[in-house]
Amino acid sequence: MDYQSIINKIYNEVQPEVGKGRVADYIPALRNIDDHQFAMAVVTVAGKEFTVGKTDENFSIQSISKVFTLTLAMKDIGNKLWERVGREPSGTSFNSLVQLEYENGIPRNPFINAGAIVVSDAIFEGRGKTKNRILKFVRELSGNNTITFDEEIAESERIYGNRNRAMANLIKSFDNLTNQADDVLDIYFHQCAIAMNTLDLAKSFLYLANSGIDPKSGQQILDSRMCKKMNSLMLTCGLYDAVGDFAYRVGLPGKSGVGGGIVAVVPNELAVAVWSPALNKYGNSYAGTKALELFTTYANNSIF
Ligand code: GLU
Repeated sequence: MDYQSIINKIYNEVQPEVGKGRVADYIPALRNIDDHQFAMAVVTVAGKEFTVGKTDENFSIQSISKVFTLTLAMKDIGNKLWERVGREPSGTSFNSLVQLEYENGIPRNPFINAGAIVVSDAIFEGRGKTKNRILKFVRELSGNNTITFDEEIAESERIYGNRNRAMANLIKSFDNLTNQADDVLDIYFHQCAIAMNTLDLAKSFLYLANSGIDPKSGQQILDSRMCKKMNSLMLTCGLYDAVGDFAYRVGLPGKSGVGGGIVAVVPNELAVAVWSPALNKYGNSYAGTKALELFTTYANNSIF
């Protein structure tokens, strides 16, 4: 498949869409980004890379980090995690508190903020140790040792993170948080503030396209059953409250973040990442969603 021609064509076609929507402004450090940026990278299981646009520009991966921490939690405690977090789409916004109260502090799924906070608690071994472990994991997956936290963004999230703080304390009040809320939030804010580029992001999701084995290192990151589960969760819960729309338009398991990144997986074939900071009303990259829709249309490779 000539992915380079396909993404070149997509690049030209999405130009009028780039900058449509709004950048996330509820985290002040994300507010000042140039919204007219776009990048797309495809990495195949067979080891080929295709890029277009600003694929070496770092951006804040935000919620996409929830896939990395969930992978670590699945490795650590496997199915026991589901005693503390659900596996259903929430039908509410990613930072909603309402459902959490009704459902006794058990978040609907690991990809809404409440669920990710519980996942960070599940892998907690001290703030520094856990942050280092997450970073090491992402560096190994991407093969890029320079990936790090954007401390300015982490700090901005901490200062303006009142809603996440409320969420963590509510979960704690239901006894579904083992550690102190502020300690867990320190992990959560930092994982969201990981800065990496679009190509590294595509590379770091390749294990999910290859039955849990990272084809670059041959390392088994997740066993194949867990890999299936992770992809199913991304398909049903990975795109906030627009997960149905994304499945309809793109037809791939994926995960988005309010930094404007989206990464998706074609099982047994490839991982594809896009980045464009302006978001639609659901918090997903406007041009990025369009680009992925065109990608599965032109490459005819949706899972459906
Ligand atoms: N750090 C963001 C928050 O907690 C993550 C949001 C996202 O990308 O969904 O609000």
